[in-house]
Amino acid sequence: MPVSEYMALCLLDPTEGYYTRREPFGAGGDFVTAPEVSQMFGELVGVWLWLAWEAAGKPDDAVLVEVGPGRGTLMKDALRALAALDREWAARLRACLVEASPRLRAVQRETLGGRPVEWFDRIEDLPKAPLLLVANEFMDALPIRQYVKTADGFRERVVGLDERNELCFLAGLSEPDPAWLPPDAADAALGAIVEAAPAREAAMAALCERIGATGGAALLIDYGHLRSGLGDTLQAVRAHRFAPVLEAPGHADLTSHVDFASLAAVARSAGLSTFAATQGEFLLGLGLLERAGAIGRGKDADTQARIRGEAERLAGPDAMGSLFKVLGVARPGVALPALAPLRSA
Ligand code: SAH
Repeated sequence: MPVSEYMALCLLDPTEGYYTRREPFGAGGDFVTAPEVSQMFGELVGVWLWLAWEAAGKPDDAVLVEVGPGRGTLMKDALRALAALDREWAARLRACLVEASPRLRAVQRETLGGRPVEWFDRIEDLPKAPLLLVANEFMDALPIRQYVKTADGFRERVVGLDERNELCFLAGLSEPDPAWLPPDAADAALGAIVEAAPAREAAMAALCERIGATGGAALLIDYGHLRSGLGDTLQAVRAHRFAPVLEAPGHADLTSHVDFASLAAVARSAGLSTFAATQGEFLLGLGLLERAGAIGRGKDADTQARIRGEAERLAGPDAMGSLFKVLGVARPGVALPALAPLRSA
């Protein structure tokens, strides 16, 4: 089967899939995402969504959306920040979650306490209203296709069985759409790998189509690169360590780096403006250090050191600050906060 099918089965198979069955998040799980590092992450995203709502002309019927909310922690922290900015507005704001895993929907309901929220299967099903949308580490979980350079050119990388009946990677038959090959693909060595993510581009197109039609803004946060290039970025993570991708299907998280250049190109072809920053620039621009100071004020030295450590982890260049990127999209004329206009490469 193609790598994309392997990834989709491993993550979301209805009985054996990773998100269906396992509790991936937090210290006892497999990995820690930014909202699980600190409440400050979701709070600052909440502030950004408020500023984006202002920049979009404060549409009355705006809907708050999170795609791939995990445990619901980001949504809970963002709603608390929005309530601090305008309690009444935040209370009547319609909150929508796009989540594929029934198990995680139940966790999200629990995290959000009594706050009314609505669940949707797909971005296309969201209410037709201006969206204030955020997705953190959602795109990286959508399946990618890989192509490997062979003597006959690039061929789809597939998962098969070797002579000992173990899973292995093989070169299949199908060839990539030439548009998916980066400029340096022609000079690539034998065995070089190119990734394409039609599922991510389709999700991006659905989201951009909606923002183009009804307004609002979207914020996508993920680890990845702002320029497309060659390379194998498929990875498995289990119990906070990298693991071989084929070792334990359904028991490890499988992700790959997000090619933000290709997502930005989708947004531009939908007629939207694009903005970007590293996660560090984004959070510092929104007042991470000030927020850390405010939370730590009057606390003991250990608590203050923990809060400083969390801020460092979220925004430090050696932690999540540089590897993680932030892409914002909106209709032309809307200037999105804490991000710089992105020009086509
Ligand atoms: N945003 C959260 C969780 C990231 S994990 C955090 O930062 O902690 C990815 C999330 O996307 C999970 O909630 C997973 O169930 C969901 N997901 C994965 N594929 C999906 C799909 N095709 N449609 C909707 N949700 C999906």
